[in-house]
Amino acid sequence: MMLTNYEMNLPSYSIGDDIYKSVPSLCAPYGKNVLIIGGARALDASRKLICQSLLDSPLTVLDTILFGDDCTYANVERLRSLPAYQEADMVFSVGGGKCIDTCKCLCIPDDKPIFTFPTIASNCAACTSVSIMYNEDGTFLKPHFYLHPPLHAFIHTGVISKAPSRYMWAGIGDTYAKYYEATISSRDEQLEHFTALGVSLSHMCLDPLVLYAPQAYKDNKIQKTSYELEQTVLAIVVTTGIVSIFLTRDFTPDYNSGLAHAIFYALTSYPVIEEKHLHGEVVGFGVLIALLCDGQQKEFEKIYELNKKINLPVRLEDIEITKKQFDEIISRIPEMSDVRHYPYAITREMLESALTHLDEYTRSHI
Ligand SMILES: [Zn+2]
Repeated sequence: MMLTNYEMNLPSYSIGDDIYKSVPSLCAPYGKNVLIIGGARALDASRKLICQSLLDSPLTVLDTILFGDDCTYANVERLRSLPAYQEADMVFSVGGGKCIDTCKCLCIPDDKPIFTFPTIASNCAACTSVSIMYNEDGTFLKPHFYLHPPLHAFIHTGVISKAPSRYMWAGIGDTYAKYYEATISSRDEQLEHFTALGVSLSHMCLDPLVLYAPQAYKDNKIQKTSYELEQTVLAIVVTTGIVSIFLTRDFTPDYNSGLAHAIFYALTSYPVIEEKHLHGEVVGFGVLIALLCDGQQKEFEKIYELNKKINLPVRLEDIEITKKQFDEIISRIPEMSDVRHYPYAITREMLESALTHLDEYTRSHI
């Protein structure tokens, strides 16, 4: 085994339906002037609540600005040049993944304190040490890694329960995928401490969702906070964030992805996937194929049932892809970097037979 020196910085977070009340005590040690950067809808949903929490505190809001359209380096530089950013002692990033990723790319390299306020629960951006960067034309560029995540995430379940339910719905698919992808891609390996921790913790990306996600999704639809919603949000935002930090130490092979993601990325060659479907939705379908390829019939049935309960896809038609279209991209799946580190080679035959099996199973379980 190789000896290494490494630094591990884990997310810090609070969760609850009145959690912004802890903002002053956690943020005041970092200065006085706050710059709020958010998405338009996110600011509508939470700016008032955040400002209320700052009344009678030493913190003042210097300015509130929109983050822009996308997480690109050009957008980050634009924000960096604003006088309000230069003057601010800290940034509150309010919104979804793109907004939070943009603010991380802005603040973390500058050593400017950053606090996150996720307003939807579709991913773990509020708690991870990576930003997903895009090109100017909206296509994926690369992940940008940091040594530490934001200083603290304030996860307000009241705000999140009022967000459109499709975000949490898709977040569920992306989150349980983490467990299957981590455990399959590390199978039979002797793992170093951090990767072993990540793989062990990934159980928590699945187990609470099987128990609580169906009720949480129902509650989100009627904008209600509940224990089930809180447990589901924790799995999507916090657990996935911690697991991804443990699994992406830059000197380890890739345990952070797998066949479900390879299927998603291969399918993005059809515009309908990015235009009309969400990442986690398609990944949730990919997990079904991945489990069949892996011979995990019982787990396949568990996820099939979960997907059925919350209307995540169980058939190609559900993501508007035909059998013929799937056949056309099938040979790209084994070439995706997501399955570069996998316990066996993915073959066309394996994928075809998984799809046939899924088809038959779906027809007999209407
Ligand atoms: Zn994903």
